[in-house]
Amino acid sequence: MIVVHKYGGTSVADTDCIKRVAHRVTQAKRNGRDVVVVVSAMGKTTDVLLGQAYDIARMPAGRELDMLLTAGERISMSLLAMAIHEAGCTARSFTGSQAGIITDTVHGKARILDITPGRITEALADGHIVIVAGFQGVSRDSKDVTTLGRGGSDTTAVALAAALGAEVCEIYTDVDGVYTADPRIVPDARRLSRVSHEEMLELAAGGAQVLQVRSVEYARNHGVAVHVRSSFTYTEGTWITEEGRVPEGETVESAIISGVAHDTSEGKLVIRRVPDRPGIAARIFTALASQSINVDMIVQNVAQDGTTDISFTLPLDDGPRALALLEGLRTEVGLEDVIFDERIGKVSLVGAGMKTHPGVAAEMFSALSDAGVNIEMISTSTIRVSVVVREADVRTAVRAIHTRFGLGSERPEMEVAR
Ligand code: ADP
Ligand code: ASP
Ligand code: MG
Repeated sequence: MIVVHKYGGTSVADTDCIKRVAHRVTQAKRNGRDVVVVVSAMGKTTDVLLGQAYDIARMPAGRELDMLLTAGERISMSLLAMAIHEAGCTARSFTGSQAGIITDTVHGKARILDITPGRITEALADGHIVIVAGFQGVSRDSKDVTTLGRGGSDTTAVALAAALGAEVCEIYTDVDGVYTADPRIVPDARRLSRVSHEEMLELAAGGAQVLQVRSVEYARNHGVAVHVRSSFTYTEGTWITEEGRVPEGETVESAIISGVAHDTSEGKLVIRRVPDRPGIAARIFTALASQSINVDMIVQNVAQDGTTDISFTLPLDDGPRALALLEGLRTEVGLEDVIFDERIGKVSLVGAGMKTHPGVAAEMFSALSDAGVNIEMISTSTIRVSVVVREADVRTAVRAIHTRFGLGSERPEMEVAR
């Protein structure tokens, strides 16, 4: 049976950590598993490399940036291979390209198109532990190295688990599972033993960085069993499962709400006084999409005097490109004013039980109001309510909502048996 382990940056932060990871994976190997290990760059390496690039260039070329960033994961994969040798097993490390991870050509957020894991299966058959550099692949068209976006090693791991038919994809990180909120912000957050794909997707999209959104999509689409757990302990973590699927012998108390997520990595773009006629929104958002700028929440106001305001959120990193693009459309579309606000935060409440329990949004807004937090934008899905607030209010907002819905370890009153 094959197992995939993924170790994030803090789990391979220094050589002692790498030795500890070597111990864990050799243990799995000795227990009779074929082990594929996906590693992230050590500690804050990716941030350091990005800082160096932006010290040199305001908008570094995507190709070169990806070439640079993929170096981070190559360091940890080769050091881990050496540590595994020292621990008495043999290992082979592979870059994303060598591992057959084929992507599109969108530098910085490439999507995996195909996996041809021939070298991995050969190395496993030869009895080696296989190590794959996370977060990277190679474009089929340009033959250039690509990266999968921040947190992309999660997606490498899940995609490999799918391609290899692995029994489980274990995501080892610095927390022992998925919590009802980021435990760094909410000290009484509770660990969830299970969370459905749909809820995890909303939590991840809402900013719960413990799993990259695409890794959850991949797991859902390919039926990969994902277990998020700590690389520092041996306790059971959180299983990401299909909705309603409960393993035999287990009863589940399903909460109406599963958690609160927050995200301060987005900004808000406001376009003032856009002409109110058919085709304008299409023109603007088609232009943004053509540059692979991912727009999140969109709000258009009621028109007055033939014009309207359109606001949307987007990753802070995409702000300069979006501004330049809209500048180019100014005369063609007739845009009056474009403002980019970097100091916003998004807070999302997620729970499958919302579908059948009215009043959740009202309760959330009332918690924010009691905490003195002003709401700037609102968006919803069937299992999520998100608001945009001032960045400085994010912590207060997350804690107020978490408490109001009784998500902390002390107050389980919102739980109902399903
Ligand atoms: P890694 O480097 O292992 O990939 P990340 O930093 O990407 O780790 O993700 C783990 C972090 O995610 C945790 O340290 C935690 O602060 C943060 N986090 C945010 N929301 C949640 C949540 N709901 N549950 C668990 N962790 C969360
Ligand atoms: N090293 C990359 C990052 O920091 C990828 C990852 O860790 O998943 O985003
Ligand atoms: Mg991560």
